Amino acid sequence: MNLIVQKFGGTSVANVERIRNVAQIITDTYERGNDVIAVVSAQGDTTDDLIKKAAEITSKPSSREMDVLLSTGEQISMSLLAMAIEELGYPVISLSGWQAGFLTEATHGNARIKKINTERLQNELDKKNIVIVAGFQGINRYDDITTLGRGGSDTSAVAIAAALKADKCEIYTDVDGVYTTDPRIVPNAHKLDEITYDEMLELATCGANVLHNRSVEMAKKYSVKLEVRSSINSDVPGTEVKEVCKVEKMLIKGVAMDNDVARISVLEVPNQPGIAFKLFSALAAEKVNVDIILQSVGRNGTKDISFTVSTAHKQQALKVSEEFKEIVGAKEIVFKDNVSKVSIVGAGMLSNPGVAAKMFEALGESNINISMISTSEIKISVLIDQDQAKRAVNVIHDAFAL
Ligand code: ASP
Ligand code: MG
Repeated sequence: MNLIVQKFGGTSVANVERIRNVAQIITDTYERGNDVIAVVSAQGDTTDDLIKKAAEITSKPSSREMDVLLSTGEQISMSLLAMAIEELGYPVISLSGWQAGFLTEATHGNARIKKINTERLQNELDKKNIVIVAGFQGINRYDDITTLGRGGSDTSAVAIAAALKADKCEIYTDVDGVYTTDPRIVPNAHKLDEITYDEMLELATCGANVLHNRSVEMAKKYSVKLEVRSSINSDVPGTEVKEVCKVEKMLIKGVAMDNDVARISVLEVPNQPGIAFKLFSALAAEKVNVDIILQSVGRNGTKDISFTVSTAHKQQALKVSEEFKEIVGAKEIVFKDNVSKVSIVGAGMLSNPGVAAKMFEALGESNINISMISTSEIKISVLIDQDQAKRAVNVIHDAFAL
């Protein structure tokens, strides 16, 4: 007897036909003798629509009420899906986040899961019920509903798989798996059979919108067997996400593009010890997440510091930078938000020299200027002008013959 956790994204449950299709996938899995827990997202654009509804009432909704509102999207999906499964004649029960035992941090809007009390889930499985769980939500220590951040249903599914030591966690989406890059940008992008947790994590944080990055982090931590696959072509195998891939024949696995970036440069900062600490601790205190950081070498007693943030944080980051400029006596702030971060990811670069050179050569030959570079062991990111980003992804994808 295996326990399979399946997660269905918003497009997979967008309408009646899609819900019936998902009910079929679930009951087929159950019919094969498995226990099944299915985690669902809100239908189609429901979450965005709920956000718009709130905005019609107030420009400053409290984060508590926002979570109460947003958690309803997933609850619509779970009940409709349970009804569709009842229609097929199978025992099923739907549970909202708190009913399924999701305890989270107190913060609203982007709460982390602290623990899952698995008692209820286990009881329902013991009764041979198919269990449908509302993704993206839980309850905090004040008994208030919390949500896990946009895209958080993936994390709900992996968390259940980890807590119940499921044999597998299948993430069903509207594409066949994880691609070498976005097929809408590069038509000959292809599906990967497998990818490592680390590669997937880098891709997820670099703008590849396949999996919520926290879900990958958690899958790695608890060694959850993960597969990304299509709910539409449900008989096609997807992409397995795992610790190590069989043969590391590919130099890089994928190219990602992220347009949600803004760059701030503080020019002619006094070249003194502790100055970077002042700026970045002030940003951290305002909860601004900084991505790429670049500091020039000192010249004539000054240096320049540039960094990038997501566009949601740009106003905060600018405000902090302006204050910093006044306090330390820097010369000026330069702000740019029509930029993109283009990244290549692959464990293959660990053991192969020349990967960065190859990427920069492809960009140079296409006359695409790089304004910032950052690297990790298995990732290289460059910051470039946004209007050149799609072209950059194409030439890099070609250069590595993906
Ligand atoms: N419905 C939520 C969102 O759109 C969570 C999810 O889909 O994973 O972000
Ligand atoms: Mg998603």
